[in-house]
Amino acid sequence: MFSLARSRLVSSPHLLHTIKPSRNFSTSSPNMVKVLAVLYKGGQAAKEEPRLLGTIENSLGISDWLKKEGHEFIVTDDKEGPGSEFQKHIADAEILVTTPFHPGYLTADLIEKAKNLKLCVTAGVGSDHIDLDAANKKSITVAEVSGSNVVSVAEHVVMSILLLVRNFVPAHEQILADDWNVAQIARNAYDLEGKTVGTVGCGRIGYRVLERLRGFNCKELLWFDYTDLPEDKKTPEFKRVDKLEDMLAKCDVVTINCPLHEKTKGLFNDQLISKMKKGAWLVNTARGAICDRNAVKKALESGHLNGYAGDVWDVQPSPKDHPWRHAFNTLGGGNGMVPHYSGTTLDAQARYANGAKDIIQRYLAGKEQDPANLIVIDGDYASKAYGQREKKPTGQKPAGP
Ligand code: NAD
Repeated sequence: MFSLARSRLVSSPHLLHTIKPSRNFSTSSPNMVKVLAVLYKGGQAAKEEPRLLGTIENSLGISDWLKKEGHEFIVTDDKEGPGSEFQKHIADAEILVTTPFHPGYLTADLIEKAKNLKLCVTAGVGSDHIDLDAANKKSITVAEVSGSNVVSVAEHVVMSILLLVRNFVPAHEQILADDWNVAQIARNAYDLEGKTVGTVGCGRIGYRVLERLRGFNCKELLWFDYTDLPEDKKTPEFKRVDKLEDMLAKCDVVTINCPLHEKTKGLFNDQLISKMKKGAWLVNTARGAICDRNAVKKALESGHLNGYAGDVWDVQPSPKDHPWRHAFNTLGGGNGMVPHYSGTTLDAQARYANGAKDIIQRYLAGKEQDPANLIVIDGDYASKAYGQREKKPTGQKPAGP
């Protein structure tokens, strides 16, 4: 089944992006590669809906293929603590696959223990659940399925902006409570037209959010990013702001669309939120830890923020007592939080499952990876998106949309 080519570096201009499986397939040693997947439990829903590919039950649709190829495939949702299946199997797994929706947190300590690990695949977008610096030290490659769910998230962002600005959730709750009080809802309901919206991060998702807002006749559509847009994506409709604080001071709505890294962790704290317009709405579908959980709750309660919505939490699954579950504005509304699902629509699952399989297939075949998917490789960052670094990234992940 395995040819010599599997263990050979493929000669190509992208040689740097070729990762060798650790086995030497030219010998008679077993060809088996151990693949560990940490996915979420789908239960009855996954049994009834096979397109729920991100679940342990349907395991990205790669189970039969990997087994047929003779590999060991461990799938689990048990990911917390030293006794978990994740921590047990990471010790000798060669490939780790996980999704941002139920991430196996690969800390520096675990990377130390993961003696055989060569490739981490994020089935989705966002690899902050991995200590990327520690992965670099061990020359572990991290790849994600770039672009796989960016439309799904951009649509969710637009929906979240609308539900906050239009005060949708409390209105719907009235109906569920057999109630009817138009004034109580309308006192905090607005049109999006005429408002200023800004995105922090204008990569694939941020740009698509702005594109989708075009039809709403907003006053201004702004973006802040250290990476410029490619020339063909620039348009006078989307204005770049050089300083984050300047953008925040102008925005009625702020949407966060940058990765979580050392410079964005806790970025939206008391101090930065105080730079936002009083009564602004904040939407975060990027990563929960970009916002300080207590600062958000305080800002809602004081009226500085009129609403906070998103699907990402600083720990996932979110604990029952997480402050964002019951954080409200001064009128008891302004909470648009949901579990992490914006990027895991059925359409997105098909794309990220295919993409994850492709990354694994290339690895097993000793073929080069698509540079757009590479986050770290050969001990360095291949992507510009995970923070500004002095050293030029080795890869070519396009910075723009
Ligand atoms: P991308 O790489 O195309 O774009 C990210 C942009 O953020 C880049 O242009 C980068 O320069 C910019 N950036 C990085 N740090 C910044 C900072 N400090 N300030 C301003 N801009 C900064 O990535 P993408 O596909 O647009 O995804 C963005 C993030 O969205 C992901 O990293 C992930 O965390 C999150 N995401 C969430 C979901 C979900 O289901 N909720 C799904 C996909 C992605």
